[in-house]
Amino acid sequence: MAERGADVPPTAGLPLRAGDLAWPHAPAASDLGAALARFLGVAEVQIECSGTACMVVALTALQRLAPTRTEVVVPAYTCPLVALAVARCGLQLRVCDLQPGTLDLDPVHLRQLCGPQTLALVPTHLGGRISDVATAQACAREVGAWTLEDAAQALGARVGDRSVGAHSDIVFFSLAVGKGLTLFEGGALVVHDPALRRACAQASADIVPRHRGWELRRSIELLGYALCYRPAGLGLVYGRPLRQALRRDDWVAAAGDDFDPEIPLHRVGRWRQAVGVRALERLPDFLAQGTVRALQRRERLTRIAGLTVLGDSPSMPDAAGTWPVLMVRMPGAAQRDAAIRALWGTGCGLSLPFVHALPDYPRYARVVPAAEAGALPHARDLARRLLAVSNSPWLDDARFERVCEALADFSR
Ligand SMILES: *Cc1c(COP(=O)(O)O)cnc(C)c1O
Repeated sequence: MAERGADVPPTAGLPLRAGDLAWPHAPAASDLGAALARFLGVAEVQIECSGTACMVVALTALQRLAPTRTEVVVPAYTCPLVALAVARCGLQLRVCDLQPGTLDLDPVHLRQLCGPQTLALVPTHLGGRISDVATAQACAREVGAWTLEDAAQALGARVGDRSVGAHSDIVFFSLAVGKGLTLFEGGALVVHDPALRRACAQASADIVPRHRGWELRRSIELLGYALCYRPAGLGLVYGRPLRQALRRDDWVAAAGDDFDPEIPLHRVGRWRQAVGVRALERLPDFLAQGTVRALQRRERLTRIAGLTVLGDSPSMPDAAGTWPVLMVRMPGAAQRDAAIRALWGTGCGLSLPFVHALPDYPRYARVVPAAEAGALPHARDLARRLLAVSNSPWLDDARFERVCEALADFSR
């Protein structure tokens, strides 16, 4: 077992400052939707209480527009909250395999899954990596469905001179802990077509209650984050529960994949929005520094034989993703598991993005269709070989170098 040090967070989250936490006096100071719209270069941003809530609201709006369409196609390797959001809307999930060694949806499988029953396709940008959207968009157009782009982990990612998501009907970003800019929990929904935007705003007005109890709870949690998201605090709030889960050999809990099936829906209050508005001012610099660090570290990791660092999709030549983590594909599942067993929990910023492909979590069997043993080969292979190296600024060069040496040992 590698030596334990201070806990580095698993992703590069933007730390808060005391000044972010002041009560907003001017209404504009708490209009996070307007601030994010300027940041993203879009007409409007609808703030919801989570990325999952964005999905529920958007799917509800689409369902009203096309009540006979009942299926949502998602990548087989993604956040289980996506499956819970689809189930919450009473829709059926269809999981699509990936192209070998990438996060791009497999176009052949995608076309098999799509038809007149399809409501939405969900191309997804995991770990800030921009995946192929054009194939999903073309497929959606062929069958009369919509694209709902999952950029939960990619706020600030660009394609050409526009924000990621510009080429889909709808895109959402998560403002949860660990996804960059955070309100502890929050989501940003962007809808390009004005009529569809009004439909999403109406769906939100109809299904999302104010619910001050949830907002109070999230406000306290955000204060806790502001206090603890620093090297001295992470041992208690992140490292300790992680090591407890690892002692039980519970990787799903260790990765934070053990989501509650209940999806809270409530309005985001003024104070949390104001915290987001102030922190957002620092996000461009934080992301730019993260990119510089990640590109250097990517080069170092790529020198290790047998190891690949996932990049933006080759089908998106103008893509410039963000770098909350570096997603590393190990030569095989045995090597990946050995590295994770030795290093996860030692504080050095290594983790699993998600433990399984969606059909392989027993706890989500009710909301994910079963897959046969040979099905979804590429998504399952990726799930077994992937690990994430944190791009937090608190992972210093010396420690990163030790991680590289360890990964080199385990890749042999
Ligand atoms: C986190 C995440 C979501 C859900 O966002 P929340 O804000 O946590 O509800 C959806 N998709 C992906 C890929 C995610 O990583």
